[in-house]
Amino acid sequence: MLTLALQKSGRLSDRSLALLTESGIHLENGSSNRLKATAGNFPLQILYLRDDDIPECVADGVADVGIVGLNVVEEKERSVRVVEKLGFARCRLSIAVPRQFHYTGLASLNGLSIATAYPRILRKFLDNQHLQATIHEISGSVEVAPGIGMADAIFDIVSTGSTLMSNGLVEVETVMHSEAVLVATPDLNGDKAAVLESLLFRFRAVMKARRYRYILLNAPNEALEEISRILPGMKSPTIMPLAMPGWSSVHSVIQEEDFWEIIENLKAAGAQGILVVPIEKMIV
Ligand code: ATP
Ligand code: ZN
Repeated sequence: MLTLALQKSGRLSDRSLALLTESGIHLENGSSNRLKATAGNFPLQILYLRDDDIPECVADGVADVGIVGLNVVEEKERSVRVVEKLGFARCRLSIAVPRQFHYTGLASLNGLSIATAYPRILRKFLDNQHLQATIHEISGSVEVAPGIGMADAIFDIVSTGSTLMSNGLVEVETVMHSEAVLVATPDLNGDKAAVLESLLFRFRAVMKARRYRYILLNAPNEALEEISRILPGMKSPTIMPLAMPGWSSVHSVIQEEDFWEIIENLKAAGAQGILVVPIEKMIV
């Protein structure tokens, strides 16, 4: 039995649970008992914690693995192993200054006081850059600190930048990029390591599928060569004759990010009746 620590409620919770569900893992007392849950069909137990406590619990072995933001892993500096990046809760940690501040580069940070909930990450960055600034540690609403005269600048999570803008701040330096990661106790024993491997196998199949789409289209036979060139596919596209003479049906897999470009090219090459559908799992 493997114990997985998840954020109790917050930005990581829904996506973490969705990853388990899509991996075919059903929690028996999922939402009713919000401290612990067990999976009915997989040797997994869930502990619901504050995200800030997850690195410590995993380092101590209270939980074997956990899902937490890379930013929290870096800040807590506990001995945990980052096993896999999970591709959600993406954000960056940046330094921002008031709009009217005359920022000309990193040297402008010298002598400032910077408010943050991430003092260790900021300290490392400042030391690496040989900058002298005072760190003012606060735990919440960091973005209001300059406005109330508590600090000259802030170091905080940014995703769209709208919170910064509404507080009259501008982002001037990106210090790190973060996303949800799966962390593990460094020395998992044999049985638990095996469960982790099979959990990872499922997570990877789900994450990979999310990045791809299954595409089906009809095309006149003379366009097939050109269409096969446009569609990379896992091996090559599948081509099947249609009932209508001279026409074929083409099936393949494309990356979501290439979607619009590929569709335009396919249409230009003569493809018709294009269908694009999500893939649930992908094992290659
Ligand atoms: P808790 O009460 O559990 O301590 P919290 O307020 O620290 O919660 P959340 O706001 O739920 O945490 O954020 C959890 C994680 O989600 C952050 O550590 C970060 O990795 C990521 N995150 C935070 N803000 C954003 C955002 N705006 N966009 C994307 N990801 C974010
Ligand atoms: Zn937190």
